[in-house]
Amino acid sequence: MDFCSLYSGSSGNSIYVGNERTKILVDAGLSGKKIQEGLLDIGVNPNEINAILITHEHDDHIKAAGILSRRFNIPIYANADTWSAMESQIGDVKEENIKVFSTYKPFEIGDITVIPFKIPHDASNPCGYSFIEKNKKISIATDIGHASREVKDNIKDSDLILLESNHDVEMLKVGPYPYYLKRRVLSDVGHLSNEDCGRTIVDILNSRIKRIILGHLSKTNNYPELAYRTVLSILESNGIRDGVDIDLDIAHRDRVGKYYSV
Ligand SMILES: [Zn+2]
Ligand SMILES: [Zn+2]
Repeated sequence: MDFCSLYSGSSGNSIYVGNERTKILVDAGLSGKKIQEGLLDIGVNPNEINAILITHEHDDHIKAAGILSRRFNIPIYANADTWSAMESQIGDVKEENIKVFSTYKPFEIGDITVIPFKIPHDASNPCGYSFIEKNKKISIATDIGHASREVKDNIKDSDLILLESNHDVEMLKVGPYPYYLKRRVLSDVGHLSNEDCGRTIVDILNSRIKRIILGHLSKTNNYPELAYRTVLSILESNGIRDGVDIDLDIAHRDRVGKYYSV
């Protein structure tokens, strides 16, 4: 199975997961043009995309979902609560392209099994996803206010994980966000800080996990080197070495990341 973060961050998210036969986009939270450029970059024709999976209805995850579905006749998958919350924002979607799943109930897209799991975030019914093909597993968990037991249980036996490393707590506290927004981000249903991301990795790390990609970085309250250094120092103080025990990478906000095959 292949994984590539086209874009990941507070300004828009779209993640590719697939193989030669099945191609999936998780979220479509930038312009249709940007996402098409990202796909072109990794050699995937938008016509080949079999599904757009939505994590939750915030704008940075759904902006172009309707546009891409109409342009390339792609089915959109979300749970019923997320559908009700986003329906008015994404425009008309063909009846046959409206796919509703139940969180926790695995389903198939081509030869990939998708497992949606609940995440703690302030949306109607947000979810993360695990993808399984043969004995390989890839998981995506961003927009999580804290690393709940459910999140950890769902991602811990993955070969590759995209995990949120949203903000530096000090930068957020002294930064320009209004008070209510600071409280929202810091809350249990907001976003995961760099420190909490590092601690979560220490908690779940086992011999199966090879790669962790830090994602959904805030544009205002973080920067890639800081996220990387903060997480790395927590890992190192627990005896975990980057490049030896694990490969740590960063997903970019504004450009296509590394293309991984697991
Ligand atoms: Zn969100
Ligand atoms: Zn988001």
